[in-house]
Amino acid sequence: MKRITVLPSQKHIEIFYVKPGDINGDNFIIKGSEFHHAKNVLRMKTGDQIIVVDGNGNEYIGMIKEMQYDRIVGSIFKTLLKPREPVLEVSIIQGLIKGNRFKYFVEKATEIGVRKIIPVYTERSLSMDSVKDIKHWENTAISAMKQSGRSVLPEISEVCSFKESLEKVEKCDIKLIAHSKFKSGFKSLESSVIPEVRKHKSVIKTAAVAVGPEGGFTADEIKYAKTNNFFPINLGERRLRSETASIVALTILLFSEGDL
Ligand code: SAM
Repeated sequence: MKRITVLPSQKHIEIFYVKPGDINGDNFIIKGSEFHHAKNVLRMKTGDQIIVVDGNGNEYIGMIKEMQYDRIVGSIFKTLLKPREPVLEVSIIQGLIKGNRFKYFVEKATEIGVRKIIPVYTERSLSMDSVKDIKHWENTAISAMKQSGRSVLPEISEVCSFKESLEKVEKCDIKLIAHSKFKSGFKSLESSVIPEVRKHKSVIKTAAVAVGPEGGFTADEIKYAKTNNFFPINLGERRLRSETASIVALTILLFSEGDL
């Protein structure tokens, strides 16, 4: 784990992830791999100041009270709610791509501030091989959450069909589908789509963006998304790799809302 600066005015403080059930009043417990990392890698000891995040937006600043044989027991001094979290909640419907590329996407999207990742099996998805990695993706998201100083662990859904993925984001304020081949009705995100949505909604709280796999979306998928109120969007003249397109769309969305 890298040592990172979390609070601007303070020295490096290690961040640990605990499940919400391991927070009891003013105390926390660190178990499992986080405990082993603290004990055997970081050599943490009683009295050390640490930060604990529960993945639900709570950040606890506290201290190690006791190092037991299988756990750390700590006390909480201060609780912060969603520090450094973007206000805009972005869901990304990500076409299945090769395992290491999906992992890269999970890591970068988590660092930047994604709220939800929906892996989707589309008509042109090459294989389901990467599906076995869901637990692995969750671990990647936990590391990226801690590394970037986030307190919210992005939710990673089970792999679903394209239709199901659109249903999962049905209520989002703004819904987008990225398509590099789209010609008519092809819009740019920041200069066209966002201002258009703002005409109807003064505040955009939730956004969803769908990005295709290596082979892109089919014409039918684009048509289906459009009938479900998705705006087809352009992310520039160059054809991007799938994971790059997701990162670019997420970045533009958060930037446009003043979160980057
Ligand atoms: N041959 C595929 C096609 O043209 O649709 C290329 C797919 S691209 C490698 C993978 C996905 O990234 C696309 O389905 C799209 O969602 C997104 N993408 C890549 N470049 C894009 C661009 N310039 N504008 C919008 N979306 C893009």
